[in-house]
Amino acid sequence: MVGATESYDLIIIGAGPAGATAAIYGARYGLKVAFFESIDPVSQLTLTPAIENFPGYEGNGFELIQRIRDQAEKFGATHKFENVDSIEKKGDIFEVKSDSGVYSAKAIIIASGGKHRELGIPGEKEFVGKGVSYCATCDGNFFRGKKVVVIGGGNTAVEEAIYLKEIGCDVSLVHRRDELRADKAYQEGLFKRNIPVIWNSIPVRIEGNEVVERIVLYNKVEEREFAVEVSAVFVAVGINPATQIVEKLGVERDSMGYIKVNRRQETNIPGVFAAGDCCDNPLKQAVTAAGDGAVAANSAFEYIKMKFQQ
Ligand SMILES: Cc1cc2nc3c(=O)[nH]c(=O)nc-3n(C[C@H](O)[C@H](O)[C@H](O)COP(=O)(O)OP(=O)(O)OC[C@H]3O[C@@H](n4cnc5c(N)ncnc54)[C@H](O)[C@@H]3O)c2cc1C
Repeated sequence: MVGATESYDLIIIGAGPAGATAAIYGARYGLKVAFFESIDPVSQLTLTPAIENFPGYEGNGFELIQRIRDQAEKFGATHKFENVDSIEKKGDIFEVKSDSGVYSAKAIIIASGGKHRELGIPGEKEFVGKGVSYCATCDGNFFRGKKVVVIGGGNTAVEEAIYLKEIGCDVSLVHRRDELRADKAYQEGLFKRNIPVIWNSIPVRIEGNEVVERIVLYNKVEEREFAVEVSAVFVAVGINPATQIVEKLGVERDSMGYIKVNRRQETNIPGVFAAGDCCDNPLKQAVTAAGDGAVAANSAFEYIKMKFQQ
């Protein structure tokens, strides 16, 4: 291909549990595989303080993902720390452009995960790095012994609140409803540690001088605003899928931007597969992402065999 510096059978956009597992399987099928990782977004697994539900592993997410990547490289997959900027289909071959090179591939797996959602309220952007955080594992340490809140009601929010409590923060959870979405086991962990929940409350604005000093909330039931003095606001209100990259390829996405896949992780575009949190799958966890990655690699292998062989 003109301009392509390296040719691969399979290029995987992502080095989280979905992408790195796909790389293990692809390499073990004998394919020439490259899997790409970026700084923005990073793998969500690297932000995970404690994994307790990945079969056979308990520990921090960073170590788990490192192990999966090492395993992929051991089987011959090439790991590239380069942001992929575009993917184009030229005939039967895909051209992948990153910030450092141009590559060609016979098949593509999108395993690009997602990036935290923002609250979109005044003060949020201004105080990022000054008390507003999207990652308790990364920033929790700065607030030991201080009053902080976590915003959200799902597994991630509860997990972050528990982590912050355990490292010594005086943490409360803020949730907009009167019950949590989080799984029972997470909720039990929260209540066992006596972490208070501020129910029915919506964040209105974040205030302070140099750093965060308070968050103003609106109680929907009492219909009143009130302020909570805090040193940090941890935002855990879900993710947006990192799927803009497939727009030009014509890959179908749902109204939220998640890539539509079938049970073989095939998209509507032949040769393009998707796996993990960027897909419209019902459960977004490391184990399901890894499972999707294995299926996607198998489907890519079958596709390459049928189309190009040999
Ligand atoms: C705080 C927190 C706690 C969590 N706790 C748990 C838990 O306890 N148990 C559990 O099972 N799950 C947990 N999760 C969810 C879990 O981390 C995700 O489900 C999982 O990481 C999804 O894997 P993935 O491979 O689909 O995406 P990700 O892990 O997000 O990986 C996406 C990959 O794509 C790469 N990428 C994206 N765009 C590009 C691009 N343009 N170019 C190059 N590379 C790109 C990224 O760099 C990254 O390597 C948690 C998540 C968070 C945020």
